[in-house]
Amino acid sequence: MPELPEVETIARQLDKKLRGRTMRSVKLLQTGRETPRGSKFVKAIEGKKIESINRRAKLLIWHFSDGTAMLAHLKMTGRFVFVDKNYKPGKHDRAIFSFGVGRCLLVWSDVRKFGFVKIVKPPDLKRVLSRYGPEPLESQAQELADRIKSPKTRMVKAALLNQEVIAGVGNIYADEALHRAKLRPTRRLGTLSAYDRLRLAKEIKKVLSESLKQGGTSANDYVDASGEKGKFLDFLRVYGRKGEKCRDCGTAIKRITIGQRGTHYCPQCQH
Ligand SMILES: [Zn+2]
Repeated sequence: MPELPEVETIARQLDKKLRGRTMRSVKLLQTGRETPRGSKFVKAIEGKKIESINRRAKLLIWHFSDGTAMLAHLKMTGRFVFVDKNYKPGKHDRAIFSFGVGRCLLVWSDVRKFGFVKIVKPPDLKRVLSRYGPEPLESQAQELADRIKSPKTRMVKAALLNQEVIAGVGNIYADEALHRAKLRPTRRLGTLSAYDRLRLAKEIKKVLSESLKQGGTSANDYVDASGEKGKFLDFLRVYGRKGEKCRDCGTAIKRITIGQRGTHYCPQCQH
């Protein structure tokens, strides 16, 4: 699933190309994952001017000049990719957006169909965004460290995946940050020292910003808005590397399941 670096990469690309443009038309190819449904969705955004596009947690937020917004969550396999005017729709495409000038088209597609788009009014936008924890790249390490204190019996990996604790961290970067901090994903929050928490918070910030510089990680089928893969895959230390050698000590990386999520760690380096 795209996490902070991947969604941020897409948000920046969309913002660069679409800021100030008008949503000229929307062709809905498959209904069911948009709110409101069908022609109501199309009517709700056609003609709207795009003020900016940014990200909060793993959500893409399209801000329109009338104060409404379109939230988009990519979930497992959602994509927003620019295509040219001769584009022929594929079977997983859900909608094609076109904009005022430049004949530029944007395709929203989703193989697994867990993603969604939703039009919200200003009070709803505020409410949705307030549910998330702090943004790791915009927060001090100590502020993040203070978020991973309780409940004491919760496993640290599970805490990191909770978007109310810290926003934008998912399976890949939780595993990577824990390896860098030399902490086992199964550690209970109550067993972490203040130093452990601060170290982990610093590694979360570091791994996210390093990945963002590489345009994110294409571990599964993530591509950015130009259809390009992220280049951080080669830098991963544990995620998706079950049985391969730890880059620090040579021990085989283990894979376990925590909260139904595959979790990777080095049994030698992480305690
Ligand atoms: Zn190791």
